[in-house]
Amino acid sequence: MKSGNQGLPVQGPTPLLPVAEARRRIVDSVSPVTGRERLALRDGLGRVLAEAIVSPLQVPAFDNSAMDGYALRAADLALAATDGLALAGRALAGAPHEGAVGPGQCVRIMTGAVLPAGADTVVMQEQAEVLAEGRIRLTGEHRAGENVRRAGEDVERGQTVLESGRRLTPADIAVIASLGIAEVQVHRRPRVAFFSTGDELCAPGQPLQPGQIYDSNRYALSGMLRRAGVECLDLGVVPDRREAVEQAFRDAATMADAVITSGGVSVGEADFVKETLERLGQVDFWRIRMKPGKPLAFGRVGDALFFGLPGNPVSTMVTFYQFVQPALQALAGAPPTPPLRLRLPTRVPLRNRSGRTDFQRGRLCHDDQGRPCVTMDRQQGSHILTSMSQADCFIVLPPDAGEIPAGTEVEVEPFAGLI
Ligand code: AMP
Ligand code: MG
Repeated sequence: MKSGNQGLPVQGPTPLLPVAEARRRIVDSVSPVTGRERLALRDGLGRVLAEAIVSPLQVPAFDNSAMDGYALRAADLALAATDGLALAGRALAGAPHEGAVGPGQCVRIMTGAVLPAGADTVVMQEQAEVLAEGRIRLTGEHRAGENVRRAGEDVERGQTVLESGRRLTPADIAVIASLGIAEVQVHRRPRVAFFSTGDELCAPGQPLQPGQIYDSNRYALSGMLRRAGVECLDLGVVPDRREAVEQAFRDAATMADAVITSGGVSVGEADFVKETLERLGQVDFWRIRMKPGKPLAFGRVGDALFFGLPGNPVSTMVTFYQFVQPALQALAGAPPTPPLRLRLPTRVPLRNRSGRTDFQRGRLCHDDQGRPCVTMDRQQGSHILTSMSQADCFIVLPPDAGEIPAGTEVEVEPFAGLI
Protein backbone atom coordinates (compact mmCIF):
# COMPACT_ATOMS: atom_id res chain seq x y z
CA MET A 1 0.00 0.00 0.00
CA LYS A 2 1.26 3.43 -0.91
CA SER A 3 -0.85 5.16 1.71
CA GLY A 4 -2.59 4.33 4.91
CA ASN A 5 -5.43 6.77 4.30
CA GLN A 6 -8.15 4.32 3.18
CA GLY A 7 -7.12 4.38 -0.48
CA LEU A 8 -7.53 8.13 -0.94
CA PRO A 9 -5.25 9.62 -3.59
CA VAL A 10 -1.75 10.29 -2.39
CA GLN A 11 -1.62 14.05 -2.80
CA GLY A 12 1.77 15.53 -3.58
CA PRO A 13 2.81 19.14 -3.67
CA THR A 14 1.05 19.68 -7.02
CA PRO A 15 -2.38 18.29 -7.99
CA LEU A 16 -2.28 15.24 -10.24
CA LEU A 17 -2.95 15.93 -13.92
CA PRO A 18 -5.85 13.93 -15.45
CA VAL A 19 -4.78 11.56 -18.25
CA ALA A 20 -6.98 13.18 -20.93
CA GLU A 21 -5.72 16.66 -20.00
CA ALA A 22 -2.08 15.55 -20.21
CA ARG A 23 -2.72 13.93 -23.58
CA ARG A 24 -4.45 17.05 -24.89
CA ARG A 25 -1.61 19.33 -23.75
CA ILE A 26 0.95 17.08 -25.38
CA VAL A 27 -0.84 16.66 -28.69
CA ASP A 28 -1.68 20.39 -28.89
CA SER A 29 1.99 21.29 -28.62
CA VAL A 30 3.10 19.10 -31.54
CA SER A 31 3.29 20.25 -35.14
CA PRO A 32 3.93 17.85 -38.02
CA VAL A 33 7.38 17.37 -39.53
CA THR A 34 7.75 19.59 -42.60
CA GLY A 35 9.65 17.29 -44.98
CA ARG A 36 7.81 15.54 -47.82
CA GLU A 37 8.75 12.80 -50.22
CA ARG A 38 7.25 11.27 -53.35
CA LEU A 39 7.13 7.51 -53.26
CA ALA A 40 6.16 4.71 -55.58
CA LEU A 41 2.64 3.74 -54.47
CA ARG A 42 3.54 0.42 -52.88
CA ASP A 43 6.24 2.07 -50.74
CA GLY A 44 3.54 4.32 -49.27
CA LEU A 45 2.16 1.56 -47.03
CA GLY A 46 2.04 2.80 -43.42
CA ARG A 47 3.14 6.29 -44.45
CA VAL A 48 1.12 9.47 -43.90
CA LEU A 49 -0.32 11.23 -46.95
CA ALA A 50 0.82 14.83 -47.41
CA GLU A 51 -1.76 15.41 -50.16
CA ALA A 52 -5.41 14.58 -50.65
CA ILE A 53 -6.10 11.87 -53.21
CA VAL A 54 -8.67 13.26 -55.66
CA SER A 55 -9.98 10.86 -58.24
CA PRO A 56 -9.17 11.73 -61.86
CA LEU A 57 -11.79 9.24 -63.05
CA GLN A 58 -14.95 7.33 -62.28
CA VAL A 59 -14.76 3.87 -60.73
CA PRO A 60 -16.12 1.75 -62.30
CA ALA A 61 -15.16 3.64 -65.44
CA PHE A 62 -18.15 2.23 -67.39
CA ASP A 63 -21.34 0.27 -66.74
CA ASN A 64 -20.33 -3.39 -66.65
CA SER A 65 -21.57 -6.83 -65.82
CA ALA A 66 -21.40 -8.28 -62.30
CA MET A 67 -22.00 -11.81 -63.60
CA ASP A 68 -21.30 -14.24 -66.37
CA GLY A 69 -24.61 -14.31 -68.30
CA TYR A 70 -26.62 -12.48 -70.93
CA ALA A 71 -27.06 -8.72 -71.41
CA LEU A 72 -30.46 -7.56 -72.64
CA ARG A 73 -33.07 -4.81 -72.50
CA ALA A 74 -35.31 -5.01 -69.41
CA ALA A 75 -38.26 -4.37 -71.75
CA ASP A 76 -37.55 -7.79 -73.29
CA LEU A 77 -37.67 -9.78 -70.02
CA ALA A 78 -41.19 -11.11 -70.70
CA LEU A 79 -40.29 -12.12 -74.26
CA ALA A 80 -37.06 -13.71 -73.00
CA ALA A 81 -39.09 -16.00 -70.70
CA THR A 82 -41.37 -17.24 -73.50
CA ASP A 83 -39.94 -17.14 -77.05
CA GLY A 84 -36.38 -16.38 -76.01
CA LEU A 85 -33.98 -13.80 -77.48
CA ALA A 86 -31.66 -13.87 -80.49
CA LEU A 87 -27.97 -14.09 -79.53
CA ALA A 88 -26.25 -11.11 -81.19
CA GLY A 89 -22.65 -11.43 -80.03
CA ARG A 90 -20.17 -11.67 -77.11
CA ALA A 91 -18.71 -9.17 -74.62
CA LEU A 92 -15.64 -10.21 -72.59
CA ALA A 93 -13.73 -8.27 -69.92
CA GLY A 94 -11.30 -6.19 -71.98
CA ALA A 95 -13.01 -7.10 -75.30
CA PRO A 96 -16.28 -5.16 -75.65
CA HIS A 97 -19.13 -6.07 -77.99
CA GLU A 98 -18.94 -3.52 -80.80
CA GLY A 99 -22.62 -3.19 -81.68
CA ALA A 100 -25.73 -2.38 -79.70
CA VAL A 101 -28.28 -4.81 -78.30
CA GLY A 102 -31.47 -4.32 -80.26
CA PRO A 103 -35.05 -5.24 -79.29
CA GLY A 104 -35.47 -9.01 -79.02
CA GLN A 105 -31.70 -9.53 -78.81
CA CYS A 106 -29.20 -10.47 -76.13
CA VAL A 107 -25.41 -10.63 -75.91
CA ARG A 108 -23.33 -13.26 -74.11
CA ILE A 109 -21.44 -11.27 -71.44
CA MET A 110 -18.72 -12.06 -68.87
CA THR A 111 -18.03 -10.46 -65.49
CA GLY A 112 -16.37 -7.06 -65.89
CA ALA A 113 -17.25 -6.69 -69.58
CA VAL A 114 -18.64 -3.34 -70.78
CA LEU A 115 -22.42 -3.41 -70.88
CA PRO A 116 -23.23 -3.06 -74.62
CA ALA A 117 -25.23 -0.03 -75.79
CA GLY A 118 -28.95 -0.65 -75.51
CA ALA A 119 -28.65 -3.26 -72.76
CA ASP A 120 -29.53 -2.34 -69.16
CA THR A 121 -29.87 -5.72 -67.45
CA VAL A 122 -27.80 -8.90 -67.08
CA VAL A 123 -29.30 -12.31 -66.32
CA MET A 124 -26.88 -14.84 -64.89
CA GLN A 125 -26.06 -17.83 -67.05
CA GLU A 126 -27.46 -20.29 -64.49
CA GLN A 127 -30.90 -18.83 -65.30
CA ALA A 128 -30.62 -19.23 -69.08
CA GLU A 129 -31.09 -22.11 -71.47
CA VAL A 130 -29.79 -22.31 -75.01
CA LEU A 131 -32.56 -23.24 -77.50
CA ALA A 132 -32.26 -24.44 -81.06
CA GLU A 133 -30.71 -21.88 -83.48
CA GLY A 134 -28.80 -20.38 -80.60
CA ARG A 135 -31.80 -18.54 -79.11
CA ILE A 136 -31.60 -17.90 -75.39
CA ARG A 137 -34.55 -18.39 -73.03
CA LEU A 138 -34.40 -17.06 -69.49
CA THR A 139 -35.89 -18.74 -66.44
CA GLY A 140 -36.67 -17.42 -62.95
CA GLU A 141 -37.68 -13.98 -61.65
CA HIS A 142 -35.84 -10.84 -62.82
CA ARG A 143 -35.63 -7.19 -62.07
CA ALA A 144 -34.79 -4.38 -64.53
CA GLY A 145 -31.14 -3.35 -64.06
CA GLU A 146 -30.06 -6.46 -62.15
CA ASN A 147 -26.42 -7.57 -62.14
CA VAL A 148 -25.16 -4.28 -63.57
CA ARG A 149 -22.36 -2.34 -61.86
CA ARG A 150 -22.93 1.33 -62.55
CA ALA A 151 -20.19 3.71 -63.69
CA GLY A 152 -19.06 5.86 -60.75
CA GLU A 153 -20.90 3.88 -58.06
CA ASP A 154 -17.62 3.34 -56.16
CA VAL A 155 -15.87 6.67 -56.84
CA GLU A 156 -17.00 9.79 -58.75
CA ARG A 157 -14.59 11.87 -60.82
CA GLY A 158 -13.23 14.73 -58.66
CA GLN A 159 -14.17 12.98 -55.40
CA THR A 160 -11.68 13.25 -52.52
CA VAL A 161 -11.05 9.60 -51.81
CA LEU A 162 -8.43 9.98 -49.05
CA GLU A 163 -7.67 13.07 -46.97
CA SER A 164 -4.21 14.42 -46.38
CA GLY A 165 -3.01 13.06 -43.01
CA ARG A 166 -4.26 9.54 -43.69
CA ARG A 167 -1.93 6.69 -42.71
CA LEU A 168 -2.07 4.38 -45.71
CA THR A 169 -3.42 0.86 -45.25
CA PRO A 170 -3.23 -1.97 -47.81
CA ALA A 171 -6.84 -1.17 -48.84
CA ASP A 172 -5.95 2.54 -49.31
CA ILE A 173 -3.01 1.58 -51.52
CA ALA A 174 -5.35 -0.59 -53.58
CA VAL A 175 -7.93 2.23 -53.88
CA ILE A 176 -5.22 4.63 -55.09
CA ALA A 177 -4.07 2.02 -57.60
CA SER A 178 -7.68 1.67 -58.81
CA LEU A 179 -7.54 5.37 -59.75
CA GLY A 180 -4.44 4.80 -61.88
CA ILE A 181 -2.22 6.83 -59.55
CA ALA A 182 1.32 5.39 -59.33
CA GLU A 183 3.02 7.73 -56.83
CA VAL A 184 2.04 9.39 -53.57
CA GLN A 185 3.32 12.42 -51.69
CA VAL A 186 3.90 11.54 -48.03
CA HIS A 187 5.34 13.17 -44.93
CA ARG A 188 8.92 12.37 -44.03
CA ARG A 189 8.97 9.80 -41.24
CA PRO A 190 9.70 11.34 -37.84
CA ARG A 191 13.11 10.35 -36.42
CA VAL A 192 12.89 9.21 -32.83
CA ALA A 193 15.96 8.66 -30.64
CA PHE A 194 15.62 6.70 -27.42
CA PHE A 195 17.78 5.49 -24.60
CA SER A 196 17.52 3.90 -21.18
CA THR A 197 18.98 5.47 -18.09
CA GLY A 198 20.24 3.55 -15.09
CA ASP A 199 23.46 2.12 -13.66
CA GLU A 200 21.64 -1.14 -12.93
CA LEU A 201 20.95 -1.90 -16.58
CA CYS A 202 22.69 -4.65 -18.49
CA ALA A 203 22.20 -5.48 -22.16
CA PRO A 204 20.66 -8.89 -22.98
CA GLY A 205 23.42 -11.27 -24.01
CA GLN A 206 25.81 -9.95 -21.30
CA PRO A 207 26.29 -11.63 -17.89
CA LEU A 208 24.50 -9.84 -15.02
CA GLN A 209 26.65 -8.28 -12.29
CA PRO A 210 25.27 -8.30 -8.72
CA GLY A 211 22.29 -5.95 -8.43
CA GLN A 212 21.94 -5.52 -12.18
CA ILE A 213 18.82 -6.18 -14.25
CA TYR A 214 18.38 -6.58 -17.97
CA ASP A 215 17.31 -3.53 -19.93
CA SER A 216 13.89 -4.46 -21.29
CA ASN A 217 12.50 -0.97 -21.87
CA ARG A 218 14.62 -0.32 -24.93
CA TYR A 219 13.18 -3.46 -26.47
CA ALA A 220 9.62 -2.40 -25.66
CA LEU A 221 10.32 1.08 -27.05
CA SER A 222 11.94 -0.13 -30.21
CA GLY A 223 8.99 -2.46 -30.86
CA MET A 224 6.37 0.21 -30.19
CA LEU A 225 8.26 2.78 -32.27
CA ARG A 226 8.65 0.43 -35.21
CA ARG A 227 4.93 -0.32 -35.09
CA ALA A 228 4.27 3.43 -34.98
CA GLY A 229 6.09 3.73 -38.32
CA VAL A 230 8.85 6.10 -37.22
CA GLU A 231 12.57 5.94 -37.89
CA CYS A 232 14.22 4.61 -34.71
CA LEU A 233 17.63 5.60 -33.36
CA ASP A 234 18.61 3.35 -30.45
CA LEU A 235 21.20 5.17 -28.35
CA GLY A 236 21.70 2.38 -25.84
CA VAL A 237 22.00 2.66 -22.08
CA VAL A 238 23.19 5.85 -20.45
CA PRO A 239 24.73 5.51 -16.99
CA ASP A 240 23.58 7.67 -14.07
CA ARG A 241 26.38 10.24 -14.50
CA ARG A 242 25.77 13.93 -15.13
CA GLU A 243 28.14 14.33 -18.12
CA ALA A 244 26.95 11.12 -19.77
CA VAL A 245 23.29 12.10 -19.45
CA GLU A 246 23.96 15.62 -20.68
CA GLN A 247 25.89 14.36 -23.69
CA ALA A 248 23.18 11.81 -24.52
CA PHE A 249 20.45 14.46 -24.39
CA ARG A 250 22.46 16.81 -26.62
CA ASP A 251 23.28 14.11 -29.18
CA ALA A 252 19.73 12.81 -29.25
CA ALA A 253 18.22 16.27 -29.68
CA THR A 254 20.44 17.13 -32.65
CA MET A 255 19.70 13.94 -34.56
CA ALA A 256 16.00 13.41 -33.87
CA ASP A 257 12.56 15.03 -34.00
CA ALA A 258 11.67 13.39 -30.70
CA VAL A 259 13.67 11.91 -27.83
CA ILE A 260 12.32 9.26 -25.49
CA THR A 261 14.01 8.04 -22.34
CA SER A 262 12.95 5.62 -19.66
CA GLY A 263 13.78 5.78 -15.99
CA GLY A 264 15.01 8.53 -13.75
CA VAL A 265 11.86 10.65 -13.63
CA SER A 266 10.63 9.66 -10.18
CA VAL A 267 10.87 12.47 -7.69
CA GLY A 268 14.17 12.55 -5.85
CA GLU A 269 15.47 9.43 -7.59
CA ALA A 270 17.72 10.96 -10.21
CA ASP A 271 17.68 14.63 -9.62
CA PHE A 272 20.51 15.28 -11.99
CA VAL A 273 18.42 14.05 -14.94
CA LYS A 274 15.88 16.67 -14.01
CA GLU A 275 18.57 19.26 -13.47
CA THR A 276 20.18 18.46 -16.83
CA LEU A 277 16.86 18.73 -18.62
CA GLU A 278 16.12 22.03 -16.94
CA ARG A 279 19.49 23.30 -18.13
CA LEU A 280 19.24 22.01 -21.72
CA GLY A 281 15.60 22.48 -22.56
CA GLN A 282 12.10 23.36 -21.45
CA VAL A 283 10.87 20.25 -19.74
CA ASP A 284 8.02 19.92 -17.22
CA PHE A 285 7.84 17.10 -14.74
CA TRP A 286 4.22 16.08 -14.48
CA ARG A 287 2.51 13.89 -11.97
CA ILE A 288 -0.35 12.24 -13.80
CA ARG A 289 -3.53 10.85 -12.25
CA MET A 290 -2.84 7.39 -13.61
CA LYS A 291 -1.69 4.00 -12.53
CA PRO A 292 0.80 2.74 -13.46
CA GLY A 293 3.05 5.54 -14.63
CA LYS A 294 2.46 8.57 -12.46
CA PRO A 295 5.63 10.55 -13.24
CA LEU A 296 6.21 11.81 -16.78
CA ALA A 297 8.59 14.43 -18.12
CA PHE A 298 7.47 16.29 -21.22
CA GLY A 299 8.85 19.23 -23.13
CA ARG A 300 11.59 20.10 -25.60
CA VAL A 301 15.32 19.69 -25.76
CA GLY A 302 16.63 21.89 -28.56
CA ASP A 303 14.14 21.47 -31.40
CA ALA A 304 13.22 17.94 -30.37
CA LEU A 305 10.15 16.88 -28.42
CA PHE A 306 11.17 15.16 -25.24
CA PHE A 307 9.39 12.39 -23.31
CA GLY A 308 10.88 11.06 -20.09
CA LEU A 309 8.92 7.91 -19.31
CA PRO A 310 8.93 6.17 -15.94
CA GLY A 311 11.35 3.24 -15.65
CA ASN A 312 9.04 0.48 -14.45
CA PRO A 313 8.52 -1.61 -17.59
CA VAL A 314 4.71 -1.65 -17.53
CA SER A 315 4.65 2.09 -16.79
CA THR A 316 6.94 2.72 -19.75
CA MET A 317 4.57 0.92 -22.09
CA VAL A 318 1.35 2.36 -20.68
CA THR A 319 2.64 5.94 -20.79
CA PHE A 320 3.99 5.37 -24.30
CA TYR A 321 0.59 4.24 -25.56
CA GLN A 322 -1.34 6.99 -23.77
CA PHE A 323 0.94 9.96 -24.48
CA VAL A 324 3.82 9.27 -26.85
CA GLN A 325 1.93 7.42 -29.53
CA PRO A 326 -0.66 10.17 -30.13
CA ALA A 327 2.16 12.73 -30.14
CA LEU A 328 4.11 10.72 -32.72
CA GLN A 329 0.96 10.48 -34.83
CA ALA A 330 0.65 14.26 -34.76
CA LEU A 331 4.38 14.62 -35.51
CA ALA A 332 3.98 12.26 -38.47
CA GLY A 333 1.21 14.48 -39.86
CA ALA A 334 -1.71 12.18 -38.97
CA PRO A 335 -4.20 13.82 -36.60
CA PRO A 336 -4.41 11.39 -33.67
CA THR A 337 -7.74 9.70 -33.10
CA PRO A 338 -8.77 8.79 -29.55
CA PRO A 339 -8.11 5.11 -28.78
CA LEU A 340 -11.01 2.78 -29.48
CA ARG A 341 -12.89 2.05 -26.23
CA LEU A 342 -15.45 -0.70 -25.81
CA ARG A 343 -17.71 -1.45 -22.87
CA LEU A 344 -17.63 -5.11 -21.88
CA PRO A 345 -18.69 -7.03 -18.78
CA THR A 346 -15.85 -8.18 -16.55
CA ARG A 347 -15.67 -11.90 -15.70
CA VAL A 348 -13.83 -11.23 -12.47
CA PRO A 349 -14.34 -8.65 -9.72
CA LEU A 350 -12.11 -5.61 -10.17
CA ARG A 351 -11.13 -2.77 -7.92
CA ASN A 352 -9.52 0.62 -8.17
CA ARG A 353 -9.02 2.40 -4.90
CA SER A 354 -5.95 4.35 -6.05
CA GLY A 355 -7.77 7.61 -6.82
CA ARG A 356 -6.08 7.51 -10.24
CA THR A 357 -7.18 6.17 -13.63
CA ASP A 358 -6.03 2.57 -13.53
CA PHE A 359 -4.85 0.89 -16.74
CA GLN A 360 -5.16 -2.78 -15.81
CA ARG A 361 -3.87 -5.38 -18.21
CA GLY A 362 -6.84 -7.40 -19.46
CA ARG A 363 -7.69 -10.17 -21.84
CA LEU A 364 -10.71 -10.30 -24.13
CA CYS A 365 -12.65 -13.54 -23.69
CA HIS A 366 -16.10 -15.09 -23.95
CA ASP A 367 -18.60 -16.04 -21.26
CA ASP A 368 -20.38 -19.39 -21.14
CA GLN A 369 -22.96 -18.17 -23.67
CA GLY A 370 -20.21 -17.07 -26.07
CA ARG A 371 -20.72 -13.34 -25.42
CA PRO A 372 -17.61 -11.16 -25.40
CA CYS A 373 -16.29 -10.06 -22.03
CA VAL A 374 -12.97 -9.24 -20.39
CA THR A 375 -10.85 -10.83 -17.71
CA MET A 376 -7.50 -10.16 -16.07
CA ASP A 377 -4.77 -11.80 -14.04
CA ARG A 378 -4.18 -11.04 -10.39
CA GLN A 379 -0.62 -9.84 -10.95
CA GLN A 380 -0.92 -6.18 -11.88
CA GLY A 381 2.27 -4.58 -10.50
CA SER A 382 4.03 -2.06 -12.73
CA HIS A 383 7.13 -4.29 -12.67
CA ILE A 384 5.22 -7.41 -13.84
CA LEU A 385 6.14 -7.19 -17.51
CA THR A 386 4.55 -10.54 -18.34
CA SER A 387 1.17 -8.98 -17.45
CA MET A 388 1.67 -6.80 -20.53
CA SER A 389 2.72 -9.60 -22.83
CA GLN A 390 -0.23 -11.77 -21.78
CA ALA A 391 -2.73 -8.95 -22.15
CA ASP A 392 -4.53 -7.92 -25.31
CA CYS A 393 -6.30 -4.89 -23.88
CA PHE A 394 -6.25 -2.30 -21.13
CA ILE A 395 -9.16 -2.29 -18.72
CA VAL A 396 -9.49 1.41 -17.93
CA LEU A 397 -10.92 1.98 -14.46
CA PRO A 398 -11.80 5.57 -13.51
CA PRO A 399 -10.21 7.10 -10.39
CA ASP A 400 -13.38 6.70 -8.31
CA ALA A 401 -14.28 3.15 -9.46
CA GLY A 402 -13.88 1.45 -6.05
CA GLU A 403 -15.10 -2.16 -5.94
CA ILE A 404 -16.49 -3.54 -9.22
CA PRO A 405 -18.44 -6.82 -9.01
CA ALA A 406 -18.10 -9.46 -11.75
CA GLY A 407 -20.61 -8.87 -14.55
CA THR A 408 -20.30 -5.06 -14.45
CA GLU A 409 -19.54 -3.35 -17.75
CA VAL A 410 -16.10 -1.73 -17.81
CA GLU A 411 -14.17 0.31 -20.37
CA VAL A 412 -11.75 -1.70 -22.48
CA GLU A 413 -9.08 -0.41 -24.83
CA PRO A 414 -8.01 -3.22 -27.22
CA PHE A 415 -4.32 -3.27 -28.10
CA ALA A 416 -5.29 -3.81 -31.74
CA GLY A 417 -6.40 -0.17 -31.78
CA LEU A 418 -2.97 0.92 -30.57
CA ILE A 419 -1.42 0.08 -33.97
P1 AMP B 1 13.33 4.65 -12.25
O1 AMP B 1 12.15 5.28 -12.97
O2 AMP B 1 14.63 4.92 -12.89
O3 AMP B 1 13.27 4.97 -10.82
O4 AMP B 1 13.10 3.09 -12.37
C1 AMP B 1 11.99 2.46 -11.78
C2 AMP B 1 12.15 0.96 -11.83
O5 AMP B 1 12.21 0.54 -13.19
C3 AMP B 1 13.41 0.44 -11.19
O6 AMP B 1 13.10 -0.79 -10.57
C4 AMP B 1 14.34 0.25 -12.35
O7 AMP B 1 15.35 -0.70 -12.11
C5 AMP B 1 13.40 -0.21 -13.43
N1 AMP B 1 13.93 0.13 -14.74
C6 AMP B 1 14.40 1.35 -15.12
N2 AMP B 1 14.83 1.31 -16.39
C7 AMP B 1 14.62 0.06 -16.83
C8 AMP B 1 14.86 -0.61 -18.08
N3 AMP B 1 15.40 0.04 -19.10
N4 AMP B 1 14.52 -1.91 -18.19
C9 AMP B 1 13.96 -2.56 -17.14
N5 AMP B 1 13.69 -1.99 -15.96
C10 AMP B 1 14.03 -0.70 -15.78
MG1 MG C 1 16.78 4.76 -12.64
